[in-house]
Amino acid sequence: MTIFRVRVLDTPTSPFAGGTLRSDDDCGLLVGDGVITARGPFDVVRAEHPDEPVLDLRQGLLLPGLVDTHVHFPQVRVIGGLGLPLLDWLDRYALPEEMRLADVDHARGVARDFVAGLVDAGTTTALVFGAHQAPAVDVMFEVADHWGLRVTTGLVTSDRLLPDALLTTPERAYAESRELAGRWHGKGRLRYAVTPRFSLSASEGVLEACAATFSEVPGSLFTSHLNENLHEISEVAALFGGASYVDTYDRFGLVTPRSVLAHDVHPTDAELGTLAARGAAVAHCPTSNAALGSGLFPLRRHIEAGVRVSLGSDVGAGTGFSLFKEGLQAYFVQQLLGPDGMLLTSAHLLWLSTGAGADALGLGDVGDLSVGKQFDAVWVLPEPGDPLAVGLDNASSPEDALSKVFALGTTSDVGGVWVAGEQIAAGRWRSPRPR
Ligand SMILES: [Zn+2]
Repeated sequence: MTIFRVRVLDTPTSPFAGGTLRSDDDCGLLVGDGVITARGPFDVVRAEHPDEPVLDLRQGLLLPGLVDTHVHFPQVRVIGGLGLPLLDWLDRYALPEEMRLADVDHARGVARDFVAGLVDAGTTTALVFGAHQAPAVDVMFEVADHWGLRVTTGLVTSDRLLPDALLTTPERAYAESRELAGRWHGKGRLRYAVTPRFSLSASEGVLEACAATFSEVPGSLFTSHLNENLHEISEVAALFGGASYVDTYDRFGLVTPRSVLAHDVHPTDAELGTLAARGAAVAHCPTSNAALGSGLFPLRRHIEAGVRVSLGSDVGAGTGFSLFKEGLQAYFVQQLLGPDGMLLTSAHLLWLSTGAGADALGLGDVGDLSVGKQFDAVWVLPEPGDPLAVGLDNASSPEDALSKVFALGTTSDVGGVWVAGEQIAAGRWRSPRPR
């Protein structure tokens, strides 16, 4: 057991439902077997556990491990391809790189780059959009398992409108998905995600195969894209006889409490009603939406309709792995929406980056640093004299300090990362858990 002595900020309850920022300046967190077993003022926890070693982290502040609910592993090397809308960006940047993952050695290098990106950003849990090639998905699972990250991912399936090398058939999609799920789902911290790329590139046959896998693999998740770009939406409607984008998934039983749909920048009210009724979550990816010019996310309409919303980096259309940047961009987007936007506090941004993601992924034991939760944590430790360090030293309140983390924090300010009590990164040092 170890007592972590540190300033802790977390959001155990959604600020969209009345929760507030919880801040403990000199907190003691007793951690054993990866789980937080006591929490309180350091002096109290220390007095109750006088023989346990203390790790003094008071130079920085501790947040729950960050949760990224939409991020593409094959796209880590194409981050920064600016200047194009969605479908052109896919053709120019993403799809050529995704075809290269047919080479399993290339895929392994990409998976390592990808996991390093997550770890350096303080992301300990992720719903990862996989690859179109089953061996590349195997590699992604292997690397995530090696690091002990909480990763849910799966085979991406499509049978039309993409380059031939990325296409499959419903039969092959089903067989390969079941095989991958059989090998990895439930192993360690890994789970399987049924993942048609989007209904633009997935025929009814592929969506039926997805539905079969989803129902036959208990506890699996479903993820895909939704209502990202107006041109994409009209193409989907044309392919599905005028159906709404949500309906293209819903008619196959794929919109459920275990479904996370990325973007939803342009929903109809009826679609929001369906998402809420089914209990599905939407992964909001604000830097991606801005980089591709997709639009300004209507957060207020989602919240008022009762749709769960979490945050995703959407690497590689998103501009990096940092959920501090995504949180800040989410704030910007709401400001730009004027009266239609929601004024987000720093507590909202932390919730979107942690508890909301855990909730979207159905993980009740991560997302905040309460007793009984897994000790997944990120230690924010700016260099002395950096604007963030100056800001934290001069913050007027915990909320103000947290605002500064989102405004100024980068991956360089991540001083340590723990998953289930195991430290996997410390500044520039990173290491997988011992095997
Ligand atoms: Zn995406």
